[in-house]
Amino acid sequence: MITRQQLERLAALKSDEGILSAYLTIDPQLMYDRNQPLTRFKGAVKSASRRLRTTRSPEVLEREGKRVLEFLSKWELIGRGLVIFSSQPAQIWETVSLEVLVPNFVDVDATTKTGILARVLDDYPPLVVAVVQKNNAAIYISQQRVSEETTRVKSEVPGKHEQGGWSQGRFQRHVEFHIAEHLKKFVEEIKELDRVQPFKYLAVGGTEETVNDLLKILPEPFSKKVIGAFSVDLKHETEAETLERAWKVWEAYERQAEQDLVEKAVDAAKAGDQGVVGINDTLWTILEGRVHTLLVTEGLRIEGSACLNCNHFSAKKFERCPICVGEAEKGDVLDRAIEKAFLDGARVKTVSGEASRRLTAEGGIGAVLRY
Ligand SMILES: [Zn+2]
Repeated sequence: MITRQQLERLAALKSDEGILSAYLTIDPQLMYDRNQPLTRFKGAVKSASRRLRTTRSPEVLEREGKRVLEFLSKWELIGRGLVIFSSQPAQIWETVSLEVLVPNFVDVDATTKTGILARVLDDYPPLVVAVVQKNNAAIYISQQRVSEETTRVKSEVPGKHEQGGWSQGRFQRHVEFHIAEHLKKFVEEIKELDRVQPFKYLAVGGTEETVNDLLKILPEPFSKKVIGAFSVDLKHETEAETLERAWKVWEAYERQAEQDLVEKAVDAAKAGDQGVVGINDTLWTILEGRVHTLLVTEGLRIEGSACLNCNHFSAKKFERCPICVGEAEKGDVLDRAIEKAFLDGARVKTVSGEASRRLTAEGGIGAVLRY
């Protein structure tokens, strides 16, 4: 995954000799197929050469396409999406591996095409992880299972051996005062982080008591950003194990969000509202540009036909396009559908687990609609 700063750097790249931007869908269910990215790239190049009308584009597709193919033939499949920006004359070669779905799409221009990447980043914001102890607390920024510590707050909190002449009750209040001060300092750091790098999701880990103490004093809007809490055994756990627990919280949250979206689409479809499920109806709303959020189960294929002239596609087999009578090709039209949805500004989500089972029962694809 990439940061906002990296995205800005990529977006600023330019070359009058033309830059090829490639987005490739990687289906984790097809990992056994080593040629998957090659096939998908070739398909996207074909579709781009039909779509792009500039005089330079065939030359750039040819020049950079060769380089990308060579790279892909040796590339180890990882993640769910791959983005490549390439321009040999300008010595531009950038690859970004993503854990989220991107459309299969190739474009040529004098600049990099980073719009889709920017939208993906907006849809999958980083998770902020706060791990809190009575005298020590840390904030991590976590993206796609890669976490980085950004802040640490250490405070002096008197231990039992320091009770000395204090009475039990007074000493206890003394300790609590220091813990409260420590937590207040930590909350200030959380606020400060949001000021420099606004975030949407927060997971809080620690002992139950400390987590509860923190949640009690966490003000809005931060309290609303908490997606879950997790217990941490800092004596026996490594930092990596702690952060893995934070990811479990995130995954549970994501799975729930997917389920809610699928339910929303199914309910709305049944009520004749802004929702649709099933292959034919969903493809139709994509063609009409009405999709707000497209939901797709992992590993779905849609055998159908696509027009080589006007880009019409459907799950039906046709030799000649029903819209423009152009020549058609048969095959999987899901890539086309996803590309069209993305280009029309829709969010596209692959769903897994319970949401996937629910959606599979409705044809494996559905959408929440704009209207
Ligand atoms: Zn057509």
